[in-house]
Amino acid sequence: MRSYRVWVLLTMLAAVLAWQRELYGQPPLKALIVDGQNNHGVWPKTSQMMKAYLEKTGLFSVDIARTKPQGVDPDFQPRFSDYHVVVSNYNGAPWPEKTRQAFVEYVRNGGGFVVVHAANNAFPDWPEYNQIIGLGGWGGRNEKSGPYVYVDEQGGIVRDTRPGPGGHHGSQHPFLIVVRDQQHPITQGMPAAWMHAQDELYDFLRGPAENMHVLATAYADPKYGGSGRHEPMLMVIHYGKGRVFHTPMGHGDYSQECVGFIVSFQRGAEWAATGKVTQPLPDDFPTADKVVQRKFAER
Ligand code: ZN
Repeated sequence: MRSYRVWVLLTMLAAVLAWQRELYGQPPLKALIVDGQNNHGVWPKTSQMMKAYLEKTGLFSVDIARTKPQGVDPDFQPRFSDYHVVVSNYNGAPWPEKTRQAFVEYVRNGGGFVVVHAANNAFPDWPEYNQIIGLGGWGGRNEKSGPYVYVDEQGGIVRDTRPGPGGHHGSQHPFLIVVRDQQHPITQGMPAAWMHAQDELYDFLRGPAENMHVLATAYADPKYGGSGRHEPMLMVIHYGKGRVFHTPMGHGDYSQECVGFIVSFQRGAEWAATGKVTQPLPDDFPTADKVVQRKFAER
């Protein structure tokens, strides 16, 4: 009997604490990171990094939904509609049909989505996913996937329909990000150019690129084996009522330690979730001549 009373007391205490948390200090936005399969072995760590980056803003509580390690996972059925934004760190087997439908419906109805680095390699044969991400690479992508999209010397967007494979990168190096739209909430206040830490510079991406706006580019220098083009690096896409933020950056944990990566990711996620950005630019944001990284401490 006594232990029952203790149980009732503890249950009531837990309820009161949950209520208090609800009233005070519960972050207003819910984010879901999807992962579980990726040809980048560092993915469990980069998911933790991205989770920590979102939590650090004080705006997000973050869950992770993980597939089984290989093959189609019939039990992978996250409730996307419970979240303001979904972040993909997933590059693997197709999701079950029901999950694919729920995801498209979620974005179409106004859900936010953030696609990071190799997540744009995923699902080459899923037309809606490719419309949602705008551009993708590898997985047999070619002229049927859509044009190559890049920015010319005058700053104009080029949609190049010539045949060829989609997705490539030269050797990793730190590179300069050129902001093409300094008015967008995600890039507002950023210097016109800033150095990104060592990363793969994705080039020759292809996709439908409908309702896509390029916020920043990087020059894929042939010296490192790149395309010789100004390649899209921060993009926003509108799909139905949904907002999508796409960063092809983030290959390694060292790439994701770049303050430019962190801030564009944090802001991109908030914009995808709400259409606004309330986060100021931090004092340690990189400049055109200096890479700045924050060493990630695992908790
Ligand atoms: Zn990579």
